[in-house]
Amino acid sequence: MAVILTFFFAHWFLSLFFHTFFLHRFASHQMYTTSKGWERIFYLSTWFTQGSSYLVPRAYGVMHRMHHVYSDTEKDPHSPHFFKDVWGMMMHTRNIYNSFVTRKGMPEAQFTKEYLPEWDRLDRFADHFATRIVFGVMYTLVYVLFAPSPWWYLLLPIHFLMGPVQGAIVNWCGHKYGYANYKNGDHSKNSEPWGIFLLGELFQNNHHKQGDNPNFARKWFELDPTFHVMKLMNVVGIIKLKKMVPAAVAAGHPVDKKPIAEKQVAHPVEH
Ligand SMILES: [Zn+2]
Ligand SMILES: [Zn+2]
Repeated sequence: MAVILTFFFAHWFLSLFFHTFFLHRFASHQMYTTSKGWERIFYLSTWFTQGSSYLVPRAYGVMHRMHHVYSDTEKDPHSPHFFKDVWGMMMHTRNIYNSFVTRKGMPEAQFTKEYLPEWDRLDRFADHFATRIVFGVMYTLVYVLFAPSPWWYLLLPIHFLMGPVQGAIVNWCGHKYGYANYKNGDHSKNSEPWGIFLLGELFQNNHHKQGDNPNFARKWFELDPTFHVMKLMNVVGIIKLKKMVPAAVAAGHPVDKKPIAEKQVAHPVEH
């Protein structure tokens, strides 16, 4: 049992770390810069830890930038407020994501303006059906060898779909349940105290307020563990955290400390 639990949590937290650290905070938001060598190491690690459910960084980055601009409106790729259940939202997200992976769907130019990490050869190999199956077989073998009873096999689908499952939890809960520190004009929430299991990703309300801030926590009782790992990597020189420019300053306006007024969001059906 110890082997299975260790394997499950190692897979969960390692794939989640690269999901938030590389796919979200680098590919989507460019919160730090790094050398090409380190970028490749992070890229490879994202593939290896996500394995059968690997998400192509270029497609993820574009889709996530859309999510910020269109948060909780009809053009949001994954707002929980337009779907009856989480499965319907996942399928919709998958279709948009696939159209970007295959380049059949062209994103709006504003979503490709900023740098997007690309490694086509690795993506072709990693995204191949056979590669994903090999990972699935390896996960199953761990269970065949070490699971104390077949009941444990029920955890296998989570291994197979790790990346999308973690994404769906964040997108569903983080825009539906919890409290808000800011009025962002959407339904983003901070779903505490569960954020620790999602390595900071559940501070959606804080994150939507300042999309380029590498620290997702604001209050004394909030903790974003990924940010602290990034700070350490910054100190030792692996990455360079970007200096934050408040949006108002960048736009030439004085900084307004008050929460911004609620903008008009489409009013979808509430469930
Ligand atoms: Zn969000
Ligand atoms: Zn984001």
